[in-house]
Amino acid sequence: MIKITMTKAQGIAQQIKKANGDKLSLRRKEISHSVPCVGNRKAGTKPVDVSNLREIISIDPVKRTCRAESGVTFSQLVKETLKYNLIPLCVSELKDITIGGAVSGTSIESMSYKYGGFHDTCFEYEIVTGKGEIIRCTPENTPELFEAIHSSFGTLGIITQLAFHLIPAKPYVRMEYIHFNSFEAFSREIYDHYQSQDIDFMDGIIHSSRDLILCLGTFVDNAPYIHTYTKNIFYKSTIKRKEDYIPVYDYFFRYDSDCHWITRNYGLENPLLRSLLGPFLLGSDKLILWAERLPFLMRRQKPDVVVDVFIPLRNAAAFYEWYLETFNYFPLWIVPYASKKFYPWMNPDHVSGLPNTLFIDFAIYGFKQPRNHINYYKILEEKVQELQGFKALITHNYYKEDDFWSIYNRQVYRESKKRLDPQNIFNDLYIKLHQR
Ligand SMILES: Cc1cc2nc3c(=O)[nH]c(=O)nc-3n(C[C@H](O)[C@H](O)[C@H](O)COP(=O)(O)OP(=O)(O)OC[C@H]3O[C@@H](n4cnc5c(N)ncnc54)[C@H](O)[C@@H]3O)c2cc1C
Repeated sequence: MIKITMTKAQGIAQQIKKANGDKLSLRRKEISHSVPCVGNRKAGTKPVDVSNLREIISIDPVKRTCRAESGVTFSQLVKETLKYNLIPLCVSELKDITIGGAVSGTSIESMSYKYGGFHDTCFEYEIVTGKGEIIRCTPENTPELFEAIHSSFGTLGIITQLAFHLIPAKPYVRMEYIHFNSFEAFSREIYDHYQSQDIDFMDGIIHSSRDLILCLGTFVDNAPYIHTYTKNIFYKSTIKRKEDYIPVYDYFFRYDSDCHWITRNYGLENPLLRSLLGPFLLGSDKLILWAERLPFLMRRQKPDVVVDVFIPLRNAAAFYEWYLETFNYFPLWIVPYASKKFYPWMNPDHVSGLPNTLFIDFAIYGFKQPRNHINYYKILEEKVQELQGFKALITHNYYKEDDFWSIYNRQVYRESKKRLDPQNIFNDLYIKLHQR
């Protein structure tokens, strides 16, 4: 008798077919990096078990490509590709972000000024659709669907496998910290590097309106000394140091132990607490897990602001001025992000007239909303919309439906939905991201 083994994608397709049109959500092992919310977004849905999608299938050191399942985390991936002195072209700073989540949601980092987001470096997705079909999407065979998957937040289908490019790496990253006292000079320097593409990594940390630091990284073969940032706090190191050398794996996850600086809100920068509680609390995976388990930490009425907003370079100074007047909260993480094109999911009217695709990601992590009548998430949405920007939808969203679709492309979304999930078992994008 011939034993026929089902592929993992076929197993998932079978679960979808058995659900008979009921609403579905993913059940996976990895932690989610959508900002934890009080109230269960998955309520009323049946789980599709995708927890076995954790394998790196192949690495081709000659073509410099990788094929992996969607639940592979960036930490797992980088450890493996470094064995070939290669890395993915985007490494999402936090260890447990998955490659499938990075494409379905939003993921950018210090190589994004060169390569865009992780999805910009992918060339094939295997997807199980809402009809239970298994399809291979490439920019050649299904260009519209391929584009539609990025930022669709799992509402079009389940990504099971991805194929993407890799680039050569060296063992260390040499950091240079350049201090500015005005946003004008700081953003001019960003633009110069964007034009010359002369360094390997670029991000910035604004510590105060008078101390804006550009963190430039270059691969090097040797290091006169090294620092790692598991016990030590990376963002603080940038204030005092002019340069640094960090082993490449540690560079990629330099923000992980403090989940950027969210630990600060819980007193975890105190050295005593760090040494006592560090093993239980430090690391983005542990912090996010505790926030979900202890919902009172999330302040139900006015949750802390944890969000990235992407502002076109030409409007970045105007946004920054407004930010100083309205939030005046630091550190503020800055990630220059040159998307490879204006994506089809963007409403063309919204981006009309922009001279290029360089956006500045202002990442506001951990702003405590004052006890007043203002919803800071909402006023941020309004300002970002006015300045032709985008807000990462991984967090609390308050858009009215028409406003939402004046920023995102309803027509493109509807067409992909009709093709991939006509029964709407994965929920509609607007509804999924706004239900609370
Ligand atoms: C505190 C915080 C800090 C962050 N810092 C960074 C950072 O430094 N750099 C960065 O690049 N990003 C950062 N992010 C953003 C993060 O990369 C995105 O939220 C990303 O989408 C999370 O991926 P995940 O694997 O955790 O997926 P999840 O958060 O679980 O999922 C994101 C969305 O994708 C869907 N999805 C997940 N897997 C699949 C799949 N296989 N198929 C179809 N749909 C799927 C989910 O249903 C969900 O709607 C941060 C987020 C938070 C909350």
